[in-house]
Amino acid sequence: MSDAETLFERIIAGEIPSDKVYEDETTYAFRDIHPQARVHVLVVPKKRYRNVAELAAADPGLLADVIAAAREVAVLEGISESGYRVVFNTDSDAGQTVFHVHAHVLGGEQLGLFGR
Ligand code: C5P
Repeated sequence: MSDAETLFERIIAGEIPSDKVYEDETTYAFRDIHPQARVHVLVVPKKRYRNVAELAAADPGLLADVIAAAREVAVLEGISESGYRVVFNTDSDAGQTVFHVHAHVLGGEQLGLFGR
């Protein structure tokens, strides 16, 4: 992977503005600019891995931090009781567009089915 900063690294560094929802030592969470549900927040580990598969293989503790941060986001957004979805788009067929792993936290309404 190139050393060029990714979009999400620039967001975490505050070089690009974002609507921050949550931050801790290892993760940063902000509202998606094109929300696909009433609540749509992205949770990004501050350390960059290309996708969730690479993250799981290289640093499972950090993956656990991302999931725990997703839970914190759900509590802060008031959707921890009603339910929510956590999605990691992974490479081409899933439509991943930003190659700095991120969890989509979606909820706040009845969500549609998976798939096409
Ligand atoms: O999983 P995927 O890589 O497709 O998701 C990238 C997400 O990042 C998109 O949902 C897009 O709307 C979001 N995004 C954003 N702010 C940006 C650029 C992309 O919230 N500046």
